[in-house]
Amino acid sequence: MNPLYGKVLILIGLVLTILIRIPHDKRNAEVKVEKDYKTGLEKALLILVAIGVMLLPVVAIFTPILSFADYESTSAAFVFGAVLLVINIWLFYRSHADLGTNWSKTLELRQGHKLVTNGVYRSIRHPMYTAIFLYVIAQGFLLPNWIAGPAGIVVFTLMYLLRVRREEAMMTEQFGADYVLYAQNSKRLIPFVY
Ligand code: SAH
Repeated sequence: MNPLYGKVLILIGLVLTILIRIPHDKRNAEVKVEKDYKTGLEKALLILVAIGVMLLPVVAIFTPILSFADYESTSAAFVFGAVLLVINIWLFYRSHADLGTNWSKTLELRQGHKLVTNGVYRSIRHPMYTAIFLYVIAQGFLLPNWIAGPAGIVVFTLMYLLRVRREEAMMTEQFGADYVLYAQNSKRLIPFVY
Protein backbone atom coordinates (compact mmCIF):
# COMPACT_ATOMS: atom_id res chain seq x y z
CA MET A 1 0.00 0.00 0.00
CA ASN A 2 1.39 3.41 -0.96
CA PRO A 3 2.15 5.23 2.35
CA LEU A 4 1.28 8.53 0.64
CA TYR A 5 -2.48 7.90 1.03
CA GLY A 6 -2.28 7.68 4.82
CA LYS A 7 -0.05 10.75 4.94
CA VAL A 8 -2.52 12.76 2.89
CA LEU A 9 -5.37 11.71 5.19
CA ILE A 10 -3.43 12.68 8.31
CA LEU A 11 -2.69 16.10 6.79
CA ILE A 12 -6.39 16.56 5.97
CA GLY A 13 -7.22 15.53 9.56
CA LEU A 14 -4.74 18.05 10.98
CA VAL A 15 -6.06 20.88 8.82
CA LEU A 16 -9.70 20.07 9.69
CA THR A 17 -8.83 19.92 13.40
CA ILE A 18 -7.28 23.37 13.21
CA LEU A 19 -10.19 24.74 11.14
CA ILE A 20 -12.77 23.42 13.64
CA ARG A 21 -10.89 25.05 16.53
CA ILE A 22 -10.23 28.51 15.04
CA PRO A 23 -13.74 30.02 15.41
CA HIS A 24 -14.09 28.69 18.97
CA ASP A 25 -10.66 29.98 19.93
CA LYS A 26 -11.51 33.42 18.53
CA ARG A 27 -14.94 33.67 20.15
CA ASN A 28 -13.79 32.33 23.54
CA ALA A 29 -10.90 34.78 23.71
CA GLU A 30 -13.58 37.36 24.43
CA VAL A 31 -15.25 35.39 27.26
CA LYS A 32 -13.54 36.17 30.57
CA VAL A 33 -11.89 33.38 32.54
CA GLU A 34 -13.34 33.28 36.04
CA LYS A 35 -11.25 30.56 37.68
CA ASP A 36 -7.97 29.28 36.32
CA TYR A 37 -6.92 25.75 37.32
CA LYS A 38 -4.08 25.31 34.86
CA THR A 39 -0.66 24.36 36.17
CA GLY A 40 2.85 24.44 34.75
CA LEU A 41 2.58 20.69 34.23
CA GLU A 42 -0.46 21.21 32.06
CA LYS A 43 1.22 23.81 29.87
CA ALA A 44 4.15 21.40 29.45
CA LEU A 45 1.73 18.60 28.50
CA LEU A 46 0.10 20.80 25.85
CA ILE A 47 3.51 21.38 24.27
CA LEU A 48 4.24 17.64 24.41
CA VAL A 49 0.91 16.89 22.71
CA ALA A 50 1.68 19.44 19.98
CA ILE A 51 5.00 17.66 19.38
CA GLY A 52 3.48 14.15 19.30
CA VAL A 53 0.34 14.98 17.33
CA MET A 54 1.57 17.71 14.99
CA LEU A 55 5.34 18.17 14.82
CA LEU A 56 6.49 14.53 14.55
CA PRO A 57 3.86 13.59 11.91
CA VAL A 58 4.75 16.69 9.85
CA VAL A 59 8.47 15.84 10.12
CA ALA A 60 7.74 12.22 9.08
CA ILE A 61 5.60 13.36 6.13
CA PHE A 62 7.80 16.13 4.74
CA THR A 63 11.36 15.17 5.66
CA PRO A 64 13.46 11.98 5.52
CA ILE A 65 14.65 12.45 9.15
CA LEU A 66 12.45 9.66 10.57
CA SER A 67 12.49 7.40 7.51
CA PHE A 68 14.78 4.89 9.29
CA ALA A 69 11.68 3.98 11.38
CA ASP A 70 9.32 3.47 8.40
CA TYR A 71 7.56 0.17 7.86
CA GLU A 72 5.25 -1.32 5.18
CA SER A 73 1.66 -0.12 5.42
CA THR A 74 -1.34 -2.30 4.62
CA SER A 75 -4.67 -1.40 3.03
CA ALA A 76 -6.54 -2.79 6.08
CA ALA A 77 -4.64 -0.36 8.36
CA PHE A 78 -5.43 2.49 5.96
CA VAL A 79 -9.17 1.72 5.86
CA PHE A 80 -9.37 1.32 9.66
CA GLY A 81 -7.47 4.57 10.24
CA ALA A 82 -9.67 6.40 7.71
CA VAL A 83 -12.88 5.26 9.45
CA LEU A 84 -11.56 6.38 12.87
CA LEU A 85 -10.55 9.72 11.40
CA VAL A 86 -14.01 10.38 9.96
CA ILE A 87 -15.69 9.60 13.32
CA ASN A 88 -13.09 11.80 15.02
CA ILE A 89 -13.82 14.81 12.82
CA TRP A 90 -17.57 14.54 13.44
CA LEU A 91 -17.20 14.10 17.21
CA PHE A 92 -14.56 16.84 17.51
CA TYR A 93 -16.85 19.23 15.64
CA ARG A 94 -19.95 18.30 17.65
CA SER A 95 -18.20 18.51 21.05
CA HIS A 96 -16.98 22.05 20.30
CA ALA A 97 -20.46 23.03 19.10
CA ASP A 98 -22.15 21.57 22.21
CA LEU A 99 -19.66 23.08 24.70
CA GLY A 100 -19.86 26.52 23.07
CA THR A 101 -18.32 29.28 25.18
CA ASN A 102 -17.65 26.79 28.00
CA TRP A 103 -14.79 25.25 26.02
CA SER A 104 -11.14 25.99 26.82
CA LYS A 105 -7.81 24.41 25.94
CA THR A 106 -6.79 24.09 29.56
CA LEU A 107 -8.59 23.69 32.86
CA GLU A 108 -10.52 26.86 33.58
CA LEU A 109 -14.04 28.06 34.30
CA ARG A 110 -15.41 30.91 32.23
CA GLN A 111 -17.76 33.74 33.08
CA GLY A 112 -21.33 32.39 33.14
CA HIS A 113 -19.99 28.82 32.83
CA LYS A 114 -22.82 26.35 32.35
CA LEU A 115 -22.76 22.61 32.83
CA VAL A 116 -23.40 20.97 29.45
CA THR A 117 -25.09 17.55 29.64
CA ASN A 118 -26.80 17.37 26.25
CA GLY A 119 -25.83 16.59 22.66
CA VAL A 120 -22.69 14.45 22.55
CA TYR A 121 -22.29 15.15 26.30
CA ARG A 122 -25.44 13.16 27.14
CA SER A 123 -23.87 9.74 27.57
CA ILE A 124 -20.16 10.59 27.93
CA ARG A 125 -18.47 13.35 29.93
CA HIS A 126 -15.39 13.71 27.71
CA PRO A 127 -16.43 13.40 24.05
CA MET A 128 -13.68 15.79 22.96
CA TYR A 129 -11.07 13.51 24.56
CA THR A 130 -12.77 10.50 22.91
CA ALA A 131 -12.43 12.33 19.58
CA ILE A 132 -8.74 13.04 20.22
CA PHE A 133 -8.15 9.37 21.19
CA LEU A 134 -9.78 8.35 17.87
CA TYR A 135 -7.46 10.78 16.10
CA VAL A 136 -4.24 9.54 17.71
CA ILE A 137 -5.21 5.89 17.12
CA ALA A 138 -5.92 6.82 13.47
CA GLN A 139 -2.47 8.47 13.37
CA GLY A 140 -0.97 5.11 14.44
CA PHE A 141 -2.73 3.31 11.58
CA LEU A 142 -2.21 5.95 8.88
CA LEU A 143 1.45 6.79 9.49
CA PRO A 144 3.56 3.65 9.00
CA ASN A 145 6.46 4.93 11.09
CA TRP A 146 7.44 3.49 14.49
CA ILE A 147 8.13 6.95 15.94
CA ALA A 148 5.62 9.38 14.39
CA GLY A 149 2.79 6.78 14.32
CA PRO A 150 2.47 5.95 18.03
CA ALA A 151 3.73 9.35 19.29
CA GLY A 152 0.21 10.80 19.47
CA ILE A 153 -1.16 7.87 21.50
CA VAL A 154 1.70 8.09 24.01
CA VAL A 155 1.52 11.84 24.64
CA PHE A 156 -2.27 12.12 24.65
CA THR A 157 -2.74 9.13 27.00
CA LEU A 158 -0.30 10.81 29.38
CA MET A 159 -2.15 14.10 29.17
CA TYR A 160 -5.55 12.43 29.63
CA LEU A 161 -4.41 10.46 32.69
CA LEU A 162 -2.93 13.53 34.33
CA ARG A 163 -5.94 15.71 33.56
CA VAL A 164 -9.24 13.86 33.78
CA ARG A 165 -9.53 13.51 37.57
CA ARG A 166 -8.52 17.12 38.10
CA GLU A 167 -11.04 18.29 35.51
CA GLU A 168 -13.83 16.30 37.18
CA ALA A 169 -12.82 17.60 40.62
CA MET A 170 -12.95 21.17 39.25
CA MET A 171 -16.41 20.57 37.77
CA THR A 172 -17.67 19.00 41.02
CA GLU A 173 -16.34 21.97 43.01
CA GLN A 174 -18.20 24.34 40.69
CA PHE A 175 -21.43 22.46 39.99
CA GLY A 176 -21.75 20.25 43.11
CA ALA A 177 -24.67 17.81 43.11
CA ASP A 178 -25.52 18.58 39.47
CA TYR A 179 -22.14 17.27 38.31
CA VAL A 180 -22.24 14.29 40.69
CA LEU A 181 -25.63 13.30 39.27
CA TYR A 182 -24.37 13.83 35.69
CA ALA A 183 -21.32 11.66 36.46
CA GLN A 184 -23.59 8.91 37.84
CA ASN A 185 -25.63 8.92 34.62
CA SER A 186 -22.74 9.04 32.13
CA LYS A 187 -19.43 7.37 31.31
CA ARG A 188 -16.10 9.06 30.65
CA LEU A 189 -15.14 8.13 27.08
CA ILE A 190 -17.19 5.24 25.67
CA PRO A 191 -21.00 5.24 26.02
CA PHE A 192 -22.22 2.52 28.48
CA VAL A 193 -18.68 1.09 28.81
CA TYR A 194 -16.10 3.40 30.38
N1 SAH B 1 -13.45 17.06 28.92
C1 SAH B 1 -14.40 17.62 28.00
C2 SAH B 1 -14.10 19.08 27.70
C3 SAH B 1 -12.71 19.37 27.22
S1 SAH B 1 -12.37 21.12 27.14
C4 SAH B 1 -14.44 16.77 26.75
O1 SAH B 1 -13.54 15.95 26.56
O2 SAH B 1 -15.37 16.91 25.96
C5 SAH B 1 -11.94 21.43 28.81
C6 SAH B 1 -12.83 22.44 29.48
O3 SAH B 1 -14.18 22.13 29.25
C7 SAH B 1 -12.65 22.43 30.99
O4 SAH B 1 -11.74 23.41 31.36
C8 SAH B 1 -14.05 22.71 31.55
O5 SAH B 1 -14.13 24.06 31.94
C9 SAH B 1 -14.97 22.50 30.37
N2 SAH B 1 -15.94 21.41 30.57
C10 SAH B 1 -15.68 20.09 30.64
N3 SAH B 1 -16.84 19.37 30.76
C11 SAH B 1 -17.84 20.28 30.75
C12 SAH B 1 -19.27 20.19 30.82
N4 SAH B 1 -19.89 19.02 30.91
N5 SAH B 1 -19.98 21.34 30.77
C13 SAH B 1 -19.36 22.55 30.66
N6 SAH B 1 -18.03 22.71 30.59
C14 SAH B 1 -17.28 21.59 30.62
